[in-house]
Amino acid sequence: MCGIVGYVGTEQATPILLEGLSRLEYRGYDSAGVAVYSRQQEALRVYKAKGRLRVLSDMLQGGAAADGTTGIGHTRWATHGAPSDVNSHPQVSHSGKIAVVHNGIIENYAELKEFLLSEGVPFTSETDTEVVAQLIAYFYEGEHLSLLEAVGRTLLRLEGAYALGILCADAPDKLIAVRKDSPLILGYGEGCSFLASDVTAILRYTREVGYMDDGEVAVLTRDGIACYNYLMQPIEKEIIHIDWEIDAAEKGGYEHFMFKEIMEQPEALRRCIFPRVRDGAVYFEDFHLSDDYICALKKICIIACGSSYHVGVVGKYHLERMTRIPVEVALASEFRYMDPIVDSSTLVVVISQSGETLDTMAALREAKRLGAHVLSIVNVVGSSIARESDQVLYTWAGPEIAVATTKGYSTQLAVVNLLGVYFARVLGTMTAQACVDLLEEMLLLPGKMEQVLAHPEDIQYWASQYFNHDSVFYIGRNVDYALGLEASLKLKEISYVHSEAYASGELKHGTISLVEDGTLVVALGTYGRLFEKAMSNVVEVKARGADVLALTTESRAAEMAKTATAVLTIPDTHELVLPSLGVVPMQLFAYYVALMRGCDIDKPRNLAKSVTVE
Ligand code: GLU
Repeated sequence: MCGIVGYVGTEQATPILLEGLSRLEYRGYDSAGVAVYSRQQEALRVYKAKGRLRVLSDMLQGGAAADGTTGIGHTRWATHGAPSDVNSHPQVSHSGKIAVVHNGIIENYAELKEFLLSEGVPFTSETDTEVVAQLIAYFYEGEHLSLLEAVGRTLLRLEGAYALGILCADAPDKLIAVRKDSPLILGYGEGCSFLASDVTAILRYTREVGYMDDGEVAVLTRDGIACYNYLMQPIEKEIIHIDWEIDAAEKGGYEHFMFKEIMEQPEALRRCIFPRVRDGAVYFEDFHLSDDYICALKKICIIACGSSYHVGVVGKYHLERMTRIPVEVALASEFRYMDPIVDSSTLVVVISQSGETLDTMAALREAKRLGAHVLSIVNVVGSSIARESDQVLYTWAGPEIAVATTKGYSTQLAVVNLLGVYFARVLGTMTAQACVDLLEEMLLLPGKMEQVLAHPEDIQYWASQYFNHDSVFYIGRNVDYALGLEASLKLKEISYVHSEAYASGELKHGTISLVEDGTLVVALGTYGRLFEKAMSNVVEVKARGADVLALTTESRAAEMAKTATAVLTIPDTHELVLPSLGVVPMQLFAYYVALMRGCDIDKPRNLAKSVTVE
């Protein structure tokens, strides 16, 4: 989420900003904009357009139409307010003096907006970002603080994640940059300075960069960059020389977007979970399901395709356990033709990363026609599914480029769990303490995931041992079975290795006849309650000559190692958080197998990111 570029120097800023933004297009976006200080007009000029960067670029004749040597640019990936010209960035204060570009989410924007409205400040957009511009102006113009003080005062009030680029009409030779939990880098040029979301945007102009740390503020002029810590004390920034090529830089130095997105999961989960958990309870923005409606629900029906469907399969186990409401999971492509039993006492939950999946969309319409209330779990703000649903919960995973979903899956799963807690509190099916215990573990999830991601080499090693197998079986029980479905899909979609997931108890009903000497079986045994049963199945397939790569929690690793050929572990966690952690080694295993088989990981054959055909 998404792209920021800033330039202050002696050249015309707009062409540089447009060029920088074009280098950030790979990150995904829905609209773009720039603000420059025009000396002729002695004012900020702001140009914004929904859609591709080309629309903005044409509007500005490639930059020639907007003069000025200081400016900020942005590609937006909407989180608050649909993609539109008005909601695009830069967002400008009511006075027209302060322009802001923002990457991230201001969690307490509603509260700040209410305060500013009560002070008579008019708002024009639906974004969380506009409060930043208005608040800086409030302190700068209303309370006559210096610009830097006004920014500092604003930061004290902001909660959430933000990288900000700030331009003020009264200080046209400077830009202010701020970073907290969203990436922002500084570029040191000859007689000019840059800020950007990542180095790709500025590599054409400079290779000398500084990485901003959380809480830092920088003031950029053409003569250099002054940096401050969160206490506004001056600090020295280390300047690093970048020798990456642009292609590598786009991927953050990783070889593939898929790997980058696997690594981004902790950050995506923080964005998805943290703003919604307060004082042991779940809060959803713009959520209008009344308690009476929730209490009268007879059924929840989850509808999705592919990995989102697998989230639904985990969701069935989780939601039934938490809410005691019966949950059905349906493949969208089947639902629409199966004469479903759905009415106004059914809540239909549709899940789609892109929000454009055609089968899911058709199923959504069918569910609405039958009178159901539709809640969607979607990543792309303003997408068709989001617009047609009665309620939307966004996953805030940020744009996903690789065809095989990773952070999309994890954040969808997190939203399903949050929904479960929300319903359980209303229904009284979980005690307050049980909710607190689960939410505490959900808040620990990003950190525990970082522990798993810190050591991919074990998984890489086992992938190197097994990458040339032609067929793999994933077995597990309960949520481990649901996890197996996703693990198996990940492997087959990117490595083209045939794989299947089975509920372990089903082995004896047929599948076990396929297990022979050297067959690779991935045994998922994270679910503590059924660990003994998982072990029995491992023994069963080992006895028939299988190589068993097992996944379990740290506390059970030693036990598992007595039988399995190899054991991968995840940290112990709450039962309802296990699949969220367990999926990570499985994603990495699929990734390394595909890598060793020389596959086109980010764009597997025959597959598309957003499936808009039936
Ligand atoms: N939350 C902001 C918005 O919706 C910024 C989104 C972004 O990072 O592009 O406008």
